[in-house]
Amino acid sequence: MLDVVWFKRDLRVADHAPLARARGRILPLYIIEPGYWQGGDASPRQWRFLRAALLDLRAELAAIGLPLVVRSGDAVTLLRRLHAERGIATLHSHEETGNLWTYARDRAVGRFCREAGIPWAQTRQFGVARPLASRDGWARFFGATMAAPVTPIPHGLQPAAYLIEGAIPEQPLPWNADDGLLEQQPAGRAAGLALLESFLAGRGRDYRRGMSSPRSAPLVCSRLSAHLAMGSLSMREVIQRVERAGQEFSAMEPRASPIPLGAVQSLRSRLHWHCHFIQKLESEPELEHRAAHPAVQAARIATAPDDPALLAWAEGRTGYPLVDACMRSLIATGWLNFRMRAMVQSFASYHLALDWAASGARLARLFTDYEPGIHWPQVQMQSGATGINTPRIYNPVKQSLDQDPLGEFIARWVPELAHIPAGLRHTPWKLDTPPPGYPQPIVEQATALRAARERLSRMRGAEGFGREAARVFHKHGSRQRRFAQDDPMAERAREAARQAKASRQGLLDL
Ligand SMILES: Cc1cc2nc3c(=O)[nH]c(=O)nc-3n(C[C@H](O)[C@H](O)[C@H](O)COP(=O)(O)OP(=O)(O)OC[C@H]3O[C@@H](n4cnc5c(N)ncnc54)[C@H](O)[C@@H]3O)c2cc1C
Repeated sequence: MLDVVWFKRDLRVADHAPLARARGRILPLYIIEPGYWQGGDASPRQWRFLRAALLDLRAELAAIGLPLVVRSGDAVTLLRRLHAERGIATLHSHEETGNLWTYARDRAVGRFCREAGIPWAQTRQFGVARPLASRDGWARFFGATMAAPVTPIPHGLQPAAYLIEGAIPEQPLPWNADDGLLEQQPAGRAAGLALLESFLAGRGRDYRRGMSSPRSAPLVCSRLSAHLAMGSLSMREVIQRVERAGQEFSAMEPRASPIPLGAVQSLRSRLHWHCHFIQKLESEPELEHRAAHPAVQAARIATAPDDPALLAWAEGRTGYPLVDACMRSLIATGWLNFRMRAMVQSFASYHLALDWAASGARLARLFTDYEPGIHWPQVQMQSGATGINTPRIYNPVKQSLDQDPLGEFIARWVPELAHIPAGLRHTPWKLDTPPPGYPQPIVEQATALRAARERLSRMRGAEGFGREAARVFHKHGSRQRRFAQDDPMAERAREAARQAKASRQGLLDL
């Protein structure tokens, strides 16, 4: 009989409790699932990053005397065959909050295990509770989970014998692998650790100031997202390292500290948000395709995948230079900073009135760090679909002037505008002669904004909107705010309703 350790998005041996808990003959297994890779949110760039992390994992396992067995196919079929041939004593894995496809697959694996009498030991790896009774107290739960000791790398484990390891293919299925990526982010554990250490050693010095601009963000942001999404680093070890650094730095003269304490604090908050957001999808997996607020869901109009506005946005041809520069840089690098992600999503939903699920799927495929639990709640939030967040309509010209004042980022990614005066790169339509090859704005900014505001106001003004918003807040809202009252839930519900009302009057134009 075998103890199977099923690696999913946890491609490391450090802080890997399922591996450390396995006993007897151990079979580390990775299943390449063509069904997953056929999904509308999966892409060649994600596979390339994952493949490199898998090769790295194979080397890490070899160093502790274990093979990494890689098989391609349907998880239940493969596990059933393995059980018939060799017998599975226990299946070990981390809990996974993935997309709806992996959720359905896990349910099928659960059914198979129950029928076959195989215990499936699933361990938590993030600060994500399964199930979560109430959002109250979640922050405490997160803190306690992250403070638990990191699991040491196990040694002296007994490998399962007579198993062919299996190759890690170039592609998970025959597809056109050319998705425009020019700069692949280095994958694997050493690359992830190096990013964390370089951030703490000084790269993160200007994190707070530089994180919003697409010019400085690639350097000053941690860039840990893809490593956290594929699990080459564990969230617990990252948080504990960041907290240790915070303690060291606070004992130093501020000028001697490699990065300001504020940068450490900001990174720590974002790592908290990571799990806060994933908890939303864990608690309501349907958020991948259903708007959190029922009124927004009822008002949705589907966008066809070949909608010309969707294609122009996704390919960087909207005529709004910063939007186009962001989309083209994302296509080429697989990464974009938070503010620009929010801006491009907001532009698709508000200016172009596209359905968030269609634009969200395009973005998901372009992100190497695609993490469903962050992605879908963020896509909904930036599209006004949650009902509990004040709608943020980003003005692409204002963002351009604020975040790329000299138009350098624009010139780099939109070469059609490189030769025009820097001051006009934000608004090339003001030139007497339009720059050749660059489109006119796809929509007129003021008209599009007015229409978006009207749509929002109509919806948010409808009877019962605030009541439903309070329900959404109760399920998903952050409790990290100060409420001085003795009935927190009632006060929070009132606050959500108040926000919904306020945002009918003045929507943010960022
Ligand atoms: C529309 C939209 C879609 C997004 N989709 C994803 C996604 O698929 N995968 C993903 O990892 N992030 C996503 N984000 C959040 C955020 O933009 C990225 O985590 C961040 O830009 C990654 O770069 P970094 O690792 O350098 O982040 P840093 O700023 O260095 O932050 C460190 C880590 O904190 C977490 N984090 C940072 N910002 C957020 C946030 N706002 N919400 C939740 N967690 C956060 C991430 O794990 C990140 O790696 C999305 C944001 C928006 C607006």
